[in-house]
Amino acid sequence: MRKALLIVVLAAAAATVVFLGRPKADKPEQVQKQTRFLMDTYVTIQVPGDARAIKTIEKALDRMEEVDRKFNVLNAESPLYRFNHENVPITDPEILALLETSFEVSSESGGAFDVTVYPLVDLWGFFRGASAVPARADIAACLENVGWRQLQIENGVLTRPRDGVKIDLGAIAKGYAVGEAVKVLKSAGVTSALIDAGGDIFAIGELQGRPWKVGIRNPRGEGVIGVLDVSDLTIVTSGDYERFFEKDGVRYHHILDPASGYPASGLMSVTVICGDAVRGDGLSTALFVMGAEKGMELVERLDGVEALMVTQDKKILCSSGLQGSMSVARLHAAENPFASIDK
Ligand code: ADP
Ligand code: MG
Repeated sequence: MRKALLIVVLAAAAATVVFLGRPKADKPEQVQKQTRFLMDTYVTIQVPGDARAIKTIEKALDRMEEVDRKFNVLNAESPLYRFNHENVPITDPEILALLETSFEVSSESGGAFDVTVYPLVDLWGFFRGASAVPARADIAACLENVGWRQLQIENGVLTRPRDGVKIDLGAIAKGYAVGEAVKVLKSAGVTSALIDAGGDIFAIGELQGRPWKVGIRNPRGEGVIGVLDVSDLTIVTSGDYERFFEKDGVRYHHILDPASGYPASGLMSVTVICGDAVRGDGLSTALFVMGAEKGMELVERLDGVEALMVTQDKKILCSSGLQGSMSVARLHAAENPFASIDK
């Protein structure tokens, strides 16, 4: 964990992202805000300014809804559903482009990120309110079809060796939707906005001349574990508390290790801070699977990517570039779960 700042958490830690504070200003500006339920979460977009901003926010939310329809594996009308269940080839350039980005994240994470986890996601049943651990033999059978290198994009068509190879872009599609919302807002001339899509956040510009403030939720309780000052950055968190069940004292959650077929262990949450919403989303899932040591090594190798991790044994790790922008001092004393900071 070279260069990483280690913060020891005393209290049982708690949840992922979001809270934003507003800096004090002489003349508080109006902030327009709209919320819509999308991608299985509440998405809120805020834009400082008068009521004319609302139309632009609606346009950005419409675009996100479009992305949701196209990339949702559970939507029977989506090309992904048709590919998985009806063997209809994928030729949609937008989907192929996101797959190419996924492959980059798969490659740099040594396969920790893998869109072919679909058979495992389906077997575990986290989207159906799962409560039982699948049989080992069933997991082994799924693993035969898992492996992103089996996918090829040839002449604008996605190919696979067998029908059993199925894809799920759930770990990166929300980031893509957020990125598309950023494009809509910017092309409408918006220079300051905050998009909050559950664990995926993007801050455009500043709020009243100061960076936006985004809190990182405690993965095991109320409150935040830190506050970040951000401008033109995405802050994406993947955690073991979004979809999970407990059995015999073990927590089984929805981020799966494509190597074992079981939920990845070692971390409670990973927050990635970088300039690209899509990569940020892919990397947060990838780092969660890689774990603290390998994950932090990758972050230190990547330019413009920072990360904060909460480990199962309640330690908080920050990549080297976060020191300075991570304002631990802003935590409320009563909620402060930190005991000490070791370098
Ligand atoms: P969330 O969807 O809660 O924001 P993530 O972005 O981490 O969290 O995505 C988790 C989803 O991605 C899972 O529900 C599953 O559909 C899919 N998934 C699980 N494990 C992996 C993996 N190793 N690589 C790629 N996708 C995954
Ligand atoms: Mg993700």
